[in-house]
Amino acid sequence: MSKKQFKTESKKLLDLMINSIYTNKDIFLRELISNSSDALDKLLFISLTDKNIDVEKDELKIHVDIDKESRTITVTDNGIGMDKKELEDNLGTIGQSGSLLFKEENSDNKDIDIIGQFGVGFYSAFMVADKIEVVSRKYGEKEAYKWVSSGASGYEIKEEDDAPWGTKITLFLKENTDEFSYDKYLEDYEIEGIIKKYSNYITYPIIMKKEESRLKEGSKDEYETVVEEETINSMIPLWKKNITKDTEEEFNGFYTDNFHDYEKPQKIFKNNIEGKINYTSLLFIPSHAPYDYYQKDYEKGLALYSNGVLIMDKCSDLLPDYFNFVKGLVDSPDVSLNISREILQKDAQISAIAKSVEGKIEKELKTMLEKDREEYIKFFKNFGTNLKFGIYNSFGMNKDKLQDLIMFYSSKEEKLITLKEYVDNKKDDQNKIYYATGESIDKIKMLPQLESFKEKDIDVLFFDDYIDEFTVSVLREYESLEFTNIANEDVSLSSEEDKKKIEKENTDAKDLLESMKEALSGKVTDVKFTDRLTNHPVCLTTKGNVSTNMEKIINAMPTDESVKSETVLEINVNHDIAKKLKDVFETNKDELKSYATILYEEARLIEGLGAEDPATLSKLVCELISK
Ligand code: ADP
Repeated sequence: MSKKQFKTESKKLLDLMINSIYTNKDIFLRELISNSSDALDKLLFISLTDKNIDVEKDELKIHVDIDKESRTITVTDNGIGMDKKELEDNLGTIGQSGSLLFKEENSDNKDIDIIGQFGVGFYSAFMVADKIEVVSRKYGEKEAYKWVSSGASGYEIKEEDDAPWGTKITLFLKENTDEFSYDKYLEDYEIEGIIKKYSNYITYPIIMKKEESRLKEGSKDEYETVVEEETINSMIPLWKKNITKDTEEEFNGFYTDNFHDYEKPQKIFKNNIEGKINYTSLLFIPSHAPYDYYQKDYEKGLALYSNGVLIMDKCSDLLPDYFNFVKGLVDSPDVSLNISREILQKDAQISAIAKSVEGKIEKELKTMLEKDREEYIKFFKNFGTNLKFGIYNSFGMNKDKLQDLIMFYSSKEEKLITLKEYVDNKKDDQNKIYYATGESIDKIKMLPQLESFKEKDIDVLFFDDYIDEFTVSVLREYESLEFTNIANEDVSLSSEEDKKKIEKENTDAKDLLESMKEALSGKVTDVKFTDRLTNHPVCLTTKGNVSTNMEKIINAMPTDESVKSETVLEINVNHDIAKKLKDVFETNKDELKSYATILYEEARLIEGLGAEDPATLSKLVCELISK
């Protein structure tokens, strides 16, 4: 019988497979098993509609057998099978070859991951085999046929005697090379591992023969080797089960096994979506940040399955950056293993799923926040910074999704609260959201500017996370209330009358303040009296948008960017020091310079900034004490 040639496009794909250096050759088995599973589906389907066909689901099986001697692997199913024409059409041609087009457009990218991501069906077997035999008999027909090909040279089809219905595919493994040992596919545990990884949730049993040594019947010390059949796959995708007290352990185990965590997840949630898009998602929130979470090469993503068959370990398109901590999977019948579908369309499909998944995560977090505050705070301590970063990074574009998920420490409540809670509990006439920044809650508590807020019982949010101030600088306001740093020069809680009073104080002391400013030139842009302090003698405030805290952070970043905040030294007008300064200004202008420096350094110390010039400070203090 004469050899037939493959159709041109098929030949190209074949060449790609034969010469593939694609590292993940393992997926050939996934492809063959998926084809078998499809063939079993088809037979089951027609048996449901055609009364003359009598097959039961439990007799439908896939066998994977290894023969070390002949160096072959066979994949056998009792599915629908193929007749002669189908063998010719299906295995001799590739009708639509989306993958091929894709490959050609990206031809400098030799081993594109398309093989791994979408599969290339039957031909992928040529990555590991140099000869393939397919024996098939279509269900209900008498004749069986054998299709044989040794790759690019073409294929032959002959009649085959006496084959059961279904399809048996035999792969003759390639010779080992220096780079790759094809012998690995002759090891039970290798094949078993590949089946478990990619095809664990195929709904038909995938059976392997296992040799076992056991005591001979009636004998005490004589062993015999028996061959037993073992089902390798678990068949029911875990995500088809409900999360209950009974199955919880199974879900936890699935998480720790698959997502390389030693601790069970904090939260597991599952969704079944049917309608325009169809998918099941099984998602986990880790109970701690992964060790590499804050590293550059941390990869977000969800595993992507198509009807229980793993397509991709980590599909990053399924998760937005701000939910990058979520682990889990999506299984969708809409995403086909079959490469021949339009890739673009697939992308649209994936982005529709991604959008829906994002909504589910958002909802889950909101519910947790409302129903289980303690749990949410635990979550927030792990991943809250990332949510705030999500707002900052998108220039506020995602603020509607995220601003009600972030929390800050409240000076009044002395615990984390949401922005909504802050606004709901604020004073009626308060038209700003006040915040204070610092390295830690304890340090912020010591800020002199807080005094007047405490006295007037106004809540202040403590920003101890470096990202906080940047996040609100992007938010600008919440429910029309502007975010305001209490260390801003403009902030005043005084009445109009008091404001006028202090203004007058400052005008009267113009010369005194001017000479202090001169003494501190380069350090502050202004010196003034204030009524914002009660017990503290001095504090530093800033003019404009760049706070002292932001200055510190931006300047610490490994970029060329550098900013300078405009600092104002404010002196408590009601403190004894105010009177003293006025006296010194009259009697000893030189000494005023020392006072200015000491007060400036003191203000820095109170705010946790550290002294700018500790040596001078201590010299000046000693001089004063020694007087
Ligand atoms: P795909 O599965 O993506 O359509 P393949 O190259 O893997 O592409 O297979 C081509 C076709 O060959 C399948 O669509 C199917 O009709 C047929 N086929 C492959 N394997 C089997 C099998 N085990 N039993 C029946 N038909 C099969």
